[in-house]
Amino acid sequence: MSIFELMEQFDHEQVVFCNDKSVGLKAIIAVHNTTLGPALGGTRMRVYKSEEDALLDALRLSRGMTYKAAVSGLNLGGGKAVIMGNPDTDKSEALFRSFGRFVESLSGRYITAEDSGTNVRDIEYIHMETNHVRGLSTSLGGSGDPSPVTALGVFCGMKACAKEKYGTDSLKDLTISIQGVGAVGQYLVDYILEEKPAKLYLTDVRKESVRIASEKCIANGVEVEILDPNTNDIYNKKGHIFAPCAFGQIINDETLKNFNYEIIAGAANNQLLDQTTHGKALREMNILYAPDYVINAGGVINVGNELLGYTRERAMEHTKSIYNSLLEIFKIAKDENITTDVASNRLAEKRMNQLAALKRFHLG
Ligand code: NAD
Repeated sequence: MSIFELMEQFDHEQVVFCNDKSVGLKAIIAVHNTTLGPALGGTRMRVYKSEEDALLDALRLSRGMTYKAAVSGLNLGGGKAVIMGNPDTDKSEALFRSFGRFVESLSGRYITAEDSGTNVRDIEYIHMETNHVRGLSTSLGGSGDPSPVTALGVFCGMKACAKEKYGTDSLKDLTISIQGVGAVGQYLVDYILEEKPAKLYLTDVRKESVRIASEKCIANGVEVEILDPNTNDIYNKKGHIFAPCAFGQIINDETLKNFNYEIIAGAANNQLLDQTTHGKALREMNILYAPDYVINAGGVINVGNELLGYTRERAMEHTKSIYNSLLEIFKIAKDENITTDVASNRLAEKRMNQLAALKRFHLG
């Protein structure tokens, strides 16, 4: 497929190819849609099998950001950048500063942030060349670690799921499994424990992380069981809510074989291996799925709030709106007899279309 055919397929506004031989920079900036505002999305660095793979990654991820920002009520569009290179061996100050100049050349149409393969230091180098950077550390005036805000969003999302499924949004007496008690998972455990659940199943490849989380459960008088991350145990336990907070694509044919939960509500990105097949499978199994990009939007809401003059209180308040967004999505899914992830896309598109029409109207 030609580049323009791909751009048409994904509905992209602009793709920028950045090449600076002197520092070994090869990068792609994809600006998907700026209907609601400047395109926000992190810069990812990784080794790609081919240039086409890198382009597809940038196109797919930037489109995802458009929908995430739209459904989260942010005045932002979707973008993403990929730097082709090994994050362990190919990084340099000059490479990131060169990339920063490309970001600057877009005059704010694209705003970058940290993503997989890039870290705070890299982002600071980019920031030396452009102000179109968000998610900096608090010492540099940014919003800092987004994990507590993401966890709050997942917690509110869980409560919306409980409301939809059981008629009450209390998590009291429920059995909840958390796969991955890392940055988000630990805060999530704290929120859940306040609700006095019946039992938590926890799993993580880092023993220390599960130890810390399980001690919190014991201190709160909540039963806890640690599961082996190298088995399928976490998928097969009988419980109310499964919260994937480790990695993506965990909802697939294999894990659904003996899946024993009524709700999926977690922080991980791209939870469904195949959006269509597994989205439909969940609906047929009567499992309520909180679309990942809606329930884990606390991080982007946190960064997006920087554009308004950041306060953590406002970012937290805004994040609580995930509760109502999910209830609206569940209603659309029921009314239109569609999966919840298709319903969330509809909600995002509705907002974009309404605001595009509003702009056209006022431009005469
Ligand atoms: P993290 O790396 O801090 O935590 C992930 C945890 O999963 C780690 O403790 C890790 O040891 C564990 N893990 C890895 N492999 C595992 C396995 N096979 N079984 C069980 N546990 C395993 O990451 P995080 O920041 O907590 O993010 C969690 C997920 O949420 C990621 O998928 C991330 O992309 C997504 N997410 C995070 C944010 C955020 O604000 N941090 C925002 C949106 C989405």
